[in-house]
Amino acid sequence: MSALPVGSTIGILGTGQLGRMLACAAAMLGFDVVVFGPEADSPAARVAADAIVADYTDEVALKALHERCDRITLEFENVPVSAIEYLTSIGADVRPGASALNVSQDRLNEKTLANSLGISSTRFAAINSAEDVKAAQATLGDGILKTRRDGYDGHGQVRLKPGLTCEEAYQRIGERPAIYEALVPFQTEISVILARRCDSEIVVYDCPENHHEGGILRESVVPANVPAQTRDRAMDAARRLANHLDYVGVMAVEFFVLEGGDILFNEMAPRVHNSGHWTQGACFTSQFEQHIRAIADWPLGSTERFSDASMKNLLGDDLMNTSSKTGPKPGFVAYGKRHSRYARKMGHFVQLKTK
Ligand code: ATP
Ligand code: MG
Repeated sequence: MSALPVGSTIGILGTGQLGRMLACAAAMLGFDVVVFGPEADSPAARVAADAIVADYTDEVALKALHERCDRITLEFENVPVSAIEYLTSIGADVRPGASALNVSQDRLNEKTLANSLGISSTRFAAINSAEDVKAAQATLGDGILKTRRDGYDGHGQVRLKPGLTCEEAYQRIGERPAIYEALVPFQTEISVILARRCDSEIVVYDCPENHHEGGILRESVVPANVPAQTRDRAMDAARRLANHLDYVGVMAVEFFVLEGGDILFNEMAPRVHNSGHWTQGACFTSQFEQHIRAIADWPLGSTERFSDASMKNLLGDDLMNTSSKTGPKPGFVAYGKRHSRYARKMGHFVQLKTK
């Protein structure tokens, strides 16, 4: 991989808010961006130089993307692996590549990989039937049933509780291949956001502490209120995953923190991450610029944090409430989504707490 000249064109698979913020960062560095995805009039398309509206399985459209772009990346981890493989087979330079997606698209694969690298997760079992759920519950105790693929923001998950039978729980997730996870009595949750270049250089941001409600991230706060050793262990585990996958770009790894400071791997995302949005206001180089630098094979930027910070997600009508009357305060970012829905991520707000 060689350094992209200023003025090159970067393709982004996916057209949501992450693509929008990546496209803005790329433009600031002198790149043109072409975004690709099935949605017309998307958040990313409205800030990019151009958009190809097509399905990820449309090889003619993928070829057109390749012909227009010097490098291709993604903002959405559920882009079919076949699309990345096709692009690679016709000579496209796609970062991160298919192997990271293969792992992160499947909760069973990602936990199995983490465990094989000596990174502990909660205990889990593979589920292919309601009987499997029953057996897992008997062995692992209270737990959460999650589809192996396509879950996000708590979708595709059911917590087993009294009054809900294993058959009902399995039906609720659509009787799909799943994973049963023992419930973690965590004290808090943290994530690691890192960037890796193809020459193996890695830079890591400070760990945010993440507060979820109903399976959706509400707020990330830096610094996390955890011992330094806990943070270091999480960073080390994330580095090991990135090196193992020979990863290029920004990736995020979510961890549970137990009483006493031990960590358990939850999941990884092969992309910029909601819990890293605070880097926009509090760091010299945001996670979005960092990702573009990494995939462009440019020198990585400083991850230094010059302020404590918090990032609150604006869900559903929160956005309208924040931006009414006097206009939003600095730190406000809107995703340009045309329609608000209950709990839909519409924007966020970064607040600095000067040290
Ligand atoms: P997101 O897209 O927001 O990361 P997701 O749909 O991929 O979410 P998870 O990260 O698996 O789902 O779960 C969302 C949240 O639910 C976790 O951050 C945590 O708060 C809670 N949760 C998930 N699994 C467990 C578990 N095994 N024990 C306790 N809490 C859990
Ligand atoms: Mg998660």
